[in-house]
Amino acid sequence: MGSSFAVGKIDTTRKTIKCPRDHATMKEIEVGEAHIDECGTCGGRFFDQGEMFAALGMHADPSYWDRPDCLGALADAPIHCPRCDGHMLLQTVLHDKDKVEIDRCGHCNGIWLDKGEADRIMAIGKKMETAIDAELLQARADLAKLSDEDLSPPSLIARFLALFGKKK
Ligand SMILES: [Zn+2]
Ligand SMILES: [Zn+2]
Repeated sequence: MGSSFAVGKIDTTRKTIKCPRDHATMKEIEVGEAHIDECGTCGGRFFDQGEMFAALGMHADPSYWDRPDCLGALADAPIHCPRCDGHMLLQTVLHDKDKVEIDRCGHCNGIWLDKGEADRIMAIGKKMETAIDAELLQARADLAKLSDEDLSPPSLIARFLALFGKKK
């Protein structure tokens, strides 16, 4: 039995998946820089790891909303992962009065978003940008202060940053 060509090799990340809500076969669509799977029946979308950023930009990236200050609750999700059949978690993402419940797979890190949830999570990500920017600025100021204490005389940059921080 000679080995045949590798033509039958399946790329598991690109195989057709079924909607975890209504079991319709999902179709691959191009969004931004990514090819994601969308259900034509319910409008739900599945994002593989990294695809939230690639498809929708930085405000959709988990680094903007998957933070302790945005975590409402975690529970078992009623659906299984359409990609790997793994266990999914229902995560509540919270910011002020905005609230989105998303389903994410603990095995392949895929994220399931029902229709409309992508817009809502991006809105939260956008609001988090100010807080994230402020954190970065604070970290830079702290760093400047540290080097300020280590070195004398006080650096002009540290004083500039302190002024800048006050203004904001
Ligand atoms: Zn569906
Ligand atoms: Zn999965």
